[in-house]
Amino acid sequence: MSAGFLLVLSGPSGSGKGTVSEKLMAKNDNIIFSTSVTTRTPRPGEVNGENYFFTTIEDFEQMVEEDELLEYAFVHTNYYGTPKKFVFDEIEKGEIVFLEIDVQGALQIKEKYKEAVFIFLLPPTMDELKFRLIKRDTESEEEINTRFRNAFKELDFVGEYDYFVVNNTVDDAVADIENIIAAEKLRVKRH
Ligand code: 5GP
Repeated sequence: MSAGFLLVLSGPSGSGKGTVSEKLMAKNDNIIFSTSVTTRTPRPGEVNGENYFFTTIEDFEQMVEEDELLEYAFVHTNYYGTPKKFVFDEIEKGEIVFLEIDVQGALQIKEKYKEAVFIFLLPPTMDELKFRLIKRDTESEEEINTRFRNAFKELDFVGEYDYFVVNNTVDDAVADIENIIAAEKLRVKRH
């Protein structure tokens, strides 16, 4: 097996990150998904320990205090973070560990662990992004507007990433990420 590495995917809410990640994981059992911790309430159908570890603000703050998170951020209206031990244990074993996190979190990882591979997922257009947020019908109008405004701010950071992928179709976006992984497995040097 080649050496393990950390793959970080970001992109604005509504870029289709969740769907692309799910398909990528379903097709590649050699990629390990890192389940984040969040203080957000579960959406219908979400399973604790699978989609997220759902927790209280108090427990989340305790994890921060005990330095158990590789990164964490306040995204939209909730805390989200990546459990550190799991990520490094898996990389040590030679696994490819996949994180689907926001830009603030990705920038923190870049500071601490620049060997990671950073991919930014773009929606085909901003109109399409707004349409996807509305169609999803899981957030209030106010929450949709917050997410839409945040999407514009996040786009400023594309230049911090190693790769960008345009989500024209889920299958094409997944294929692009698989190609990036194939190339990264052959990398001679990690920064
Ligand atoms: P959602 O509430 O739609 O599941 O996620 C909202 C945002 O939080 C998404 O942009 C998602 O990528 C981000 N997110 C999920 N887990 C983490 C995490 O562990 N850390 C950070 N920084 N962001 C995360």
